[in-house]
Amino acid sequence: MDEEATSDPGVNDPGVNDPGVDEPGVDDPGVDEPGVDEPGATGEAGAGETVDERYARHVLLAQIGPEGQARLAAARVLLIGLGGLGSPVAMYLASAGVGELVLSDYDFVELSNLQRQIVHGTGDVGRDKVDSARETIARLNPDVRVASMSYELEGEELLAEVGRADVVVDACDNFETRFAINAACWRTGTPLVSGAAMRWEGQISVFDPRRADSPCYRCLYDDASAEGEACSRVGVVAPLLGIVGSVQATETLKLITGAGEPLVGRVVALDALYMEWRELRLRKREGCPVCASR
Ligand SMILES: [Zn+2]
Repeated sequence: MDEEATSDPGVNDPGVNDPGVDEPGVDDPGVDEPGVDEPGATGEAGAGETVDERYARHVLLAQIGPEGQARLAAARVLLIGLGGLGSPVAMYLASAGVGELVLSDYDFVELSNLQRQIVHGTGDVGRDKVDSARETIARLNPDVRVASMSYELEGEELLAEVGRADVVVDACDNFETRFAINAACWRTGTPLVSGAAMRWEGQISVFDPRRADSPCYRCLYDDASAEGEACSRVGVVAPLLGIVGSVQATETLKLITGAGEPLVGRVVALDALYMEWRELRLRKREGCPVCASR
């Protein structure tokens, strides 16, 4: 009984005597506004908004600032796959002000996608994913220019699109496409942000052919180990895609703005069942058919 009495009452009754803990967003507007008081920040964004206002929380960051935001506005990102990973990537890159998004996905929206593919809605079932995503992006940020391809991007066209992009985000779901994207990135010298998620596990890495020490996707997986398991057979927990896709979006923004240290030569892996992150070092593989000769 004494032990009960000495334990923290807040832990046992979180809702009773500490409403602030349960409702951080309700009565603490200051959390989102660290000492900044720009006009319009508390009003509705809309017809009269300025670009500065929309990106105010980015511009405040020392690593982004107005220069970084201008770089984002001038950037072109190729996003391959508009499924569970591509959804948050597309939405965050759009809201963050990446100037041009090139979307590639030849699939259409199915009911079983909606559990995790949050760029699409119930009314989009049966539509091309690129069309559905384009509408969501326009709603989030009409300043973003969107180009889309609702067919499989391959061969010379893949190479050309990869070459035109500042960053390529691999959000696809099969090894064949992943290998093709990796090879195209290496041929054109375009950085690649790679992510994958299945069941309760995800992983992310960045491969940057502009850096002599950077491994590539083929250093991580060779043909023999590429036994693609589709998540249609094994399942995946919905918000895991949001976590992994958000990390991919963050790495993309870092590559464009030059902020921080990208995930080059490192693979971060998440086990969401235990909420455990691990970081693995990845080196260039000797004799890698894609990157070893560089
Ligand atoms: Zn390699």
